[in-house]
Amino acid sequence: MRLRFIGAAGQVTGSCYLLEAAGRKVLVDCGAFQERPSLDRNWDPFPVDPASIDVLLLTHAHVDHSGLLPKLVREGYRGHIVATTATGDLLPIVLMDAARIHEEDAAFKKKRHRKEGRRGPHPEIPLFTPDDVERTLPLLEDTVYGREIRLSDGLSVTFRDAGHILGSAMLELSVRENGAARRLVFSGDIGRWNKPLVRDPSVFRQADYVVMESTYGDREHEDAKDVETLLAEAVLAAVEAGGNVVIPTFAVERAQELMFHLSRLVRAGRIPHLLVFLDSPMAADITDVFADHAADLDEETRRLFREGRPPFAFPGLKLIRTIEESKAINAVRGTSVIMAGSGMCTGGRIKHHLARNVSRPESVILFVGYQARDTLGRTILSRPPEVRILGQSWPVRARIAKIEGFSAHADRRGLIRWLDALESSPRRLFVTHGDREVSATFAANVAKDRGWPVTTPGPGDEWPLD
Ligand SMILES: [Zn+2]
Repeated sequence: MRLRFIGAAGQVTGSCYLLEAAGRKVLVDCGAFQERPSLDRNWDPFPVDPASIDVLLLTHAHVDHSGLLPKLVREGYRGHIVATTATGDLLPIVLMDAARIHEEDAAFKKKRHRKEGRRGPHPEIPLFTPDDVERTLPLLEDTVYGREIRLSDGLSVTFRDAGHILGSAMLELSVRENGAARRLVFSGDIGRWNKPLVRDPSVFRQADYVVMESTYGDREHEDAKDVETLLAEAVLAAVEAGGNVVIPTFAVERAQELMFHLSRLVRAGRIPHLLVFLDSPMAADITDVFADHAADLDEETRRLFREGRPPFAFPGLKLIRTIEESKAINAVRGTSVIMAGSGMCTGGRIKHHLARNVSRPESVILFVGYQARDTLGRTILSRPPEVRILGQSWPVRARIAKIEGFSAHADRRGLIRWLDALESSPRRLFVTHGDREVSATFAANVAKDRGWPVTTPGPGDEWPLD
């Protein structure tokens, strides 16, 4: 048995591990690299012959776990892609959106390179196209939490709820090889306890080998209760001043979480009845998938559905799909809450809403997610005197606010809590999916506190597992 760390080793994105066990080659996730210095790696040919891989297990629909699947299929992968039913419903939306962005990027680069009379390091073609996505989706094989799937005589896998986003899973694998039985756990992305919408993360009492994420291995989050209060404060400030609340949001999970909190605030009378727009066809489609899979959500959310108070349909909420409806938002008088993508303001309809509100002292621009370097979101957060949006300069006069507590990842305390469930030391713990220093610090602390064998593998590292 051996395990190879292809991505999310020494970095957060590009999740991909190859397990060879009981005569099978199993790929866990096939994520895109998103850190700027790693973007080139998305173009590299897959390091293992894709046709030689027997099965792919997908933990969840986020692009950093799924975003290279269409490319893998184009390069020859023909096996099944096993995922929960909810992940299987989210995946077409997420991958089609990614394909569209890749096509736009390629067209933009072509134009720019022609203007500058040079060529880039990659051909000016999209990383993958909607056709590649169409060829990928039929490979999906649905599963449910808790069902043991036999992959070969000595190998089986069970998906467990990761509590990270809708459909997210941790993987529990049983391997029988040369008379020895071993249990492996892949954490996927570990969610948070007591978070709205999703259930608490699953925990494991025994495992021989554990591969765990460590995105927030060096930090604690703000209390989730405060998030709702901070959201109410931002809305009330805009109501008082007579401006809008503009919220750049990711389409998967964050948008639905915002709706959950806003629905509670409206129904509890903590904020006045006002128009709340979710101006993103993708987020609207994803919200439909959430409603279809309400049974996979946590008890509180299911109760809201049962009692006829669904979090994704409350007085004033409008899900916007067409451009005409989007433009009509401009004509609304009084305060409205406008959520739109992209989450880091790098594209999408949010740019139009920012252009209309960033110079209005009465409006609030509210950030609810991480803003990477070199994005419009990060620029606005730094409160410059002026900002360029859609080719025009705008003075920054709106109130700029940020709520930190919205992460879908366990923080340091949560990661430790997840490990605490293990009743004995694994034969080895692999700490992945974190910035290099963060993973190293987390791993060192676990090794020191528990005396466990802990490793932070680098990209391409391979470990024999006995
Ligand atoms: Zn994720």
